[in-house]
Amino acid sequence: MKCRELAEFLNDYVSGELPVETRTHFELHLGKCKNCHHHMVQYEVAIKAGKIACDEMSDEMPAMPEELIKAVPATRQQSGQ
Ligand SMILES: [Zn+2]
Repeated sequence: MKCRELAEFLNDYVSGELPVETRTHFELHLGKCKNCHHHMVQYEVAIKAGKIACDEMSDEMPAMPEELIKAVPATRQQSGQ
């Protein structure tokens, strides 16, 4: 799988609609390619932040999941090399 293909499957992957076979290739590439992993994390953060904001129509700021707060800076450091 190439980076461009991965970008095309990103939406399906996040929504859980990717076939198992494609998903395996997807995750394999994510494990090897820092650029795509970074892209993936950014995408997930955006999706989850958006969903949280929609689900909770409260006056409080939506809390970011702890794993995402950790994941973003770690990925930035890696891609800066
Ligand atoms: Zn890639």
